[in-house]
Formats: sequence, structure tokens, C-alpha cells
Amino acid sequence: MNKEVRSVVIAGGGTAGWMVAAALARVLGPRLTITLVESTEIGIVGVGEATIPAIQQFNKLVKLDEDEFMRQTQATFKLAIEFVDWYEKGHAYMHTFGNVGRDLAYIPFHHYWLRDQPAAGSLWDYSLNDLAARGAKFSRVDHIPNTPLAGLTWAFQFDASLFAAYLSRFSQKLGVRRIDAKISAVLQTPEGDVRALKLEDGRELAADFFIDCTGFRGLLIEQTLKTGYENWSHWLLCDRAMAVPSARTSPLLPYTRSTALEAGWQWRIPLQHRTGNGHVYSSSFTTDERARELLLANLDAKPLADPRPIRFTTGRRKQLWNRNVVSMGLASGFIEPLESTAIHLIQVTIQRLILLFPHNGDYEARRLQFNRSAAAEYEYIRDFIILHYHANNRVGEPFWDACRNMSIPDSLAHKIELFRETAGIFCAADDLFQLSSWLQVMWGQGVRPRATHPFVEAIAPHDRAGYLRDLRGVFERAAQTLPGHAEFIEKHCASAPPSAG
Ligand SMILES: Cc1cc2nc3c(=O)[nH]c(=O)nc-3n(C[C@H](O)[C@H](O)[C@H](O)COP(=O)(O)OP(=O)(O)OC[C@H]3O[C@@H](n4cnc5c(N)ncnc54)[C@H](O)[C@@H]3O)c2cc1C
Repeated sequence: MNKEVRSVVIAGGGTAGWMVAAALARVLGPRLTITLVESTEIGIVGVGEATIPAIQQFNKLVKLDEDEFMRQTQATFKLAIEFVDWYEKGHAYMHTFGNVGRDLAYIPFHHYWLRDQPAAGSLWDYSLNDLAARGAKFSRVDHIPNTPLAGLTWAFQFDASLFAAYLSRFSQKLGVRRIDAKISAVLQTPEGDVRALKLEDGRELAADFFIDCTGFRGLLIEQTLKTGYENWSHWLLCDRAMAVPSARTSPLLPYTRSTALEAGWQWRIPLQHRTGNGHVYSSSFTTDERARELLLANLDAKPLADPRPIRFTTGRRKQLWNRNVVSMGLASGFIEPLESTAIHLIQVTIQRLILLFPHNGDYEARRLQFNRSAAAEYEYIRDFIILHYHANNRVGEPFWDACRNMSIPDSLAHKIELFRETAGIFCAADDLFQLSSWLQVMWGQGVRPRATHPFVEAIAPHDRAGYLRDLRGVFERAAQTLPGHAEFIEKHCASAPPSAG
């Protein structure tokens, strides 16, 4: 039986550390003493700038004002990720947030669309997010006026260093104690639990419970508790990145771009004050010099710093919660940023910790549940990311040939075969990516069904065509009424000094 948890020490003050500090202070503040120790000398990883819509739940949980948060972090809105050259060179598609089309008579929309190909046009004609993204438009419309159709679904792109600093100020106002010091040792009880963190200046920080947010180091969860790591590098071959900021360009795009390169891909994340760029690549298929050269060659404005190298091993900690330590952020594992899922994983880990919080000490069942849910969540995301690499037609390029020819997890092979049979897509309720996401990436990566669903025939061809035509018209007209993205930001949430363009 462990003791009642009244004090928590968070080790590390990057995005993970400050997100969990803010959330715990907001939700459990009065009954918990929360201390965060970080080392400005070591610093933070400083990347991680694109998010997915679920981040709005975090903002609501901690009660961040959206406009203020955007001003403080030089943020822009994000409606989608564009995948350029992923299926093959010269081809591009969007993975937009929100639904595509509208389901009819219990049958998902895409079955009707598929049945009427090619007359029904592009899948993305039925996505307001896509039309707005391509037109560099944005407004906070949650539904299309006079219709039952949803409006835009958005996330944010922000400056990672500013985000951590903003949450730090925010959390300290809620009572979180911050210590700037290096942890020199992790002290354990005779049973093996963590008892205290020893700081370089000799102080000892004792607590009932610890949260390891020390980044790739995993100071508590791995270096001390030796939890073990499940390595997925055989499925996700990239193991290095190089990041560089460049000058802002116009128009200010409300989406992230991912461009496939010869042994990996390059991200482009537009912010209010600059553009974030990075090249994720496999060291088995290219050199650091070549990766740097390609990154700089593919910038659309002048670089504002030297490219910064980062190394990683894709996978996850065997247990995210071990003894009296929960790990979050890079300390808990890493799946490359292709679908901007890392900050989301921090957020859901926080939500799970709050739900299963070990307040009364007796928490073995909660710990097991926490680890089971976390494992499943990582695996769903892993499969979705592998799909992007595996289903490619970049024949004759060694890296892409290896991705196409590798064996994939059974869970993913099943999903692909289901789609090939009759465009079936079935997702577990707790899979982050639901039907619309799998559909767009399957189709975008060239996976094609062999047959359509017979139930769509229940609607006469003429009615089906009319339904699709009307839907397209509604999305097109709705997109035309939206203001420009830059204009919207300027009006509501521009960082000072006001940005141009
Ligand atoms: C190339 C790349 C691109 C990414 N892009 C995205 C993206 O677009 N979207 C997304 O959601 N995520 C992205 N991520 C992930 C995202 O960056 C991280 O999830 C996020 O920044 C959280 O990092 P962290 O807080 O876990 O670690 P860090 O930022 O590394 O913070 C670690 C903290 O621990 C402290 N620390 C370490 N050792 C000690 C010590 N001995 N004593 C005291 N303090 C210590 C450090 O000072 C620091 O405060 C990306 C990651 C990489 C590598």
C-alpha cells in the first residue's frame, strides 16, 4: 500500500512539464503541492509547433483564453496537413480536420461519393476545411449557416518556446513552485520507489509522486527505474531531424505542409513571426550533410538560424507509469511528428492521469489501466503513421522501396485490406484518428477499393447525384464567405507588433 499523494514534483519544464503543471494546478491545485524543476542551462527541445484540434480541450480545461494564447505564442490556425509528393512525385493531397461530406441513411458519405466516381469530383470538394485551407481563409464558424453541416475544425501552430514560457507564467500564477536547477541524482526508497530529486546545489526535493518530463533523457522513468523501451524503428525508419526557422512569407497559410524527400520528409509550419521548418530523415538512407543541404534548398524564405540536429528512437516506454513515476512527453516515447501527435499524447496522458489520479495511495489497478490505455493509443497512432510511408508509389528510390516492401503490423494490414474490399473503415472508439482521417490518407496514398458498398444502390442514381451536387455547392459557397486567415488573425489575435501581410 502506497501512501496518500499530497505532493507532486514535475521534473522538466518543456511543453510536457508545463502542460501537466498547468492542468494539475487547475484541477487538483487546492489539495496538492506542485513543484516543477527545470534547468535553463539544459534548455528544452524547442520543436513541436503543430497541433491537432483536440488541443482545444486542454485550453478549456486550464481555461486559456484562445486569443490571448495565440498572441502570446505567435500562433496561427491550422486546418489540415498537406502531403506533397508522398504517394509519388508531383502528387499532393490534404489530410483535413473534421468530417468530409455528410453521412446518409447510416452509410458513411464516402460510399456514395465512391459509387459516383468520377462524376462526383474530388473527395476534398466536400470538405470546408480543405477549401478554406487552399484559399488561405479562416473564421471561427462552428456550423454552416442554415444547414446541419459543421463549419471549420481547427488546431493551432505556435512557437514551442513561447508556449512553454506562457504556460510557465500561467502555472506559477496558479500556485506552482518553479525551481531552476539541474537534477544531479534521483534518490530511491529501499523498495525502489522514487523518494526525492537531488539538485546540483545539494537540495533534496522530496514528494509522494513524480512526473518525468525530462525529455529524451527519461531521467526517472528510464535512467533510474529502467522501465524499458519498445523500439519501432523497423517500421518507422526515420531517426533524425534537422530544424531551422525561416522568414515569414505571404499568404499566411492555415495549414502545415509535409513534403516527401528522398529519405524522409520536410515540415513547414507557418507562424505569425516566422516559419518553422524541419527535415525528418533516416540515417540509414542518407547523410546529415545531404539532409541539411535538402532542408535549406527547400525553404521558401531565408533561414534565420543554423539548422539544429536532433536524434530520436521511435517507440514507447514499456510502462508510462512505473512505481510512483508517470512519464510524459518525450520521456514517455516518441512517434515522429508527421501527424503532429506528440503534444496530443501529452494532453491525453494528462487527462488520463487526472481521471486515474492516485490520491489515496492504493493505485495498482489504476496504474495498470493507465498503462493499457496508453499502449493502445500509441499503437493506433503508430499504424496510421506507417500507412503514409508504406502505401507509396515512389518506385526506384531505396528509402521508399524499403517502406513499401517492409512487413507492417497485422492491425494495419487488416485495415488496408478492409478498405480494399469495399472501402470499409472501422476504428476503435479510442483511436485518435477516425473514419475521415483514415479515408483521406488511404485515398491520398493511392489505396483503392475493389468494390463499392451495395447499400448505396438503395438511393436512386439521380437522387444520389443531386445530393452530392447540392453538398458540393454548399461547401463552395460557405468557403467564399470566409475572410482571409492573415486578416482574421490581425483582427483578433495578432502578437505585438502587428504583423503584416
Ligand atoms: C523533430 C521534432 C519535431 C516535432 N514536431 C512536433 C509537432 O509538430 N507537433 C507536436 O505535437 N509535437 C512535435 N514534437 C514533439 C514535441 O516537441 C514534444 O512532445 C514536446 O516539445 C515536449 O517535449 P518535452 O517537454 O517532453 O521535452 P523537452 O522540451 O526536451 O523538455 C525537457 C525538460 O527537462 C529538463 N531537464 C532535462 N534534464 C534535466 C536535469 N538533469 N535537471 C533539470 N532539468 C532537466 C530540461 O531542462 C527541459 O526543461 C516534435 C519533436 C521532434 C523531436
